[in-house]
Amino acid sequence: MERLKQRILTCTACPLHSDRNHAIFGEGNTNAEIFLVGEAPGADEDRVGRPFIGKSGQLLDKILGACGFTRQQHVFISNIVRCRPPNNRVPTNREVETCIPYLHEQIDLVNPRIIITLGSTATRKLLNDESCKITAARGHWLQWNNRLLMPVYHPAALLRNPRLKKDTWEDFKKVIRTYRKLVDPSHCSEHFRE
Ligand code: SF4
Repeated sequence: MERLKQRILTCTACPLHSDRNHAIFGEGNTNAEIFLVGEAPGADEDRVGRPFIGKSGQLLDKILGACGFTRQQHVFISNIVRCRPPNNRVPTNREVETCIPYLHEQIDLVNPRIIITLGSTATRKLLNDESCKITAARGHWLQWNNRLLMPVYHPAALLRNPRLKKDTWEDFKKVIRTYRKLVDPSHCSEHFRE
């Protein structure tokens, strides 16, 4: 993992490296059973060098907290591309193709049972399926490389449209259920007991 980190932090393999302040390695428990995949760093992440620390990240932390999960213990968080695309545009196919092998390698190293893709781009790019629509895919378990994958809305979409929060909570309840089944039957969420 440390060698992968150094390769990512010094990577100049695609044009996104030229404007970055930081390439984002990811953070969390490197033995986590849940791996969260976002699209790309934004301005706050680029400035600080950590994933999901802006308003979207704060909302993500709230959702994880409601599930009884913490960044430190239960999840590892990473992105499809590690350097911020200018003006937060969607990364190009070329940028994704160049960067996504890092994500595949990182997922193999962490070896989670559950992957959560945050939003349309992360879901499409990881599944390699450009036709995938997040409105239809969210909330449904998929199989990906012998792991369970749950697509959910990106937290930024919830900030733009708070009505999506209800569906998202239903999706995360499925994650809690599966986590209890596969990982820890005694896992506690104050907001979801069954
Ligand atoms: S986005 Fe990925 S491939 Fe491109 S320079 Fe950054 S780390 Fe390298």
